[in-house]
Amino acid sequence: MQIHRLKLSGFKSFVEPAELRIAPGLTGVVGPNGCGKSNLLEAIRWVMGETSAKSMRSGGMEDVIFAGTSTRPQRDFAEVVLHAEDDQGDELIVTRRIERGAGSAYRVNGRDVRAKDVALTFADAATGAHSPALVSQGKIAQVIAARPAERRAMLEEAAGIAGLHVRRKDAEGKLRGAEANLARLDDLMAGLD
Ligand code: ATP
Repeated sequence: MQIHRLKLSGFKSFVEPAELRIAPGLTGVVGPNGCGKSNLLEAIRWVMGETSAKSMRSGGMEDVIFAGTSTRPQRDFAEVVLHAEDDQGDELIVTRRIERGAGSAYRVNGRDVRAKDVALTFADAATGAHSPALVSQGKIAQVIAARPAERRAMLEEAAGIAGLHVRRKDAEGKLRGAEANLARLDDLMAGLD
């Protein structure tokens, strides 16, 4: 999946409608402290269905709505629209909007959908709000400072093989059970001789 455009309105510090084009390849966001770099990455996570306000550095989900400044009143809603192209080359337009007191609503290509549908759409494309492809500030330092086992776990998550470990553990448990049964069978057979 290739994300190629992001539109924000009333989302955190992006009070005025803003539109960003995202070119193919690796994208980095640079700018002075507090200019909204992290807010941009959070907007991508949010439109992909992020449900944890904490991971959006917010107390409650409505905190993503522009809260106002000494010179500007607060907004009543926040909206993020993500334009992407899926692996089949089809256009995907996902919208999430939150209104004060009314919660979030999602649309995919103009149709109202549930949060779950949006999360599944991105999961099927091996991406989503928790994708390691979204590298937030501090994440790189975390990778550098990580112990080898932690770093390996991060790489395995990125490679999409983390789930295989769970299945391997299950399989090993079953194998041990089967070996114990076989040993018992051997004992029983020996008793019959
Ligand atoms: P740094 O490099 O210091 O981490 P940054 O460029 O990543 O900064 P962000 O953390 O994305 O910046 O943006 C922080 C700014 O967003 C702050 O000025 C904060 O006041 C503003 N902000 C966050 N939430 C809201 C909101 N709901 N309403 C208005 N402004 C907000």
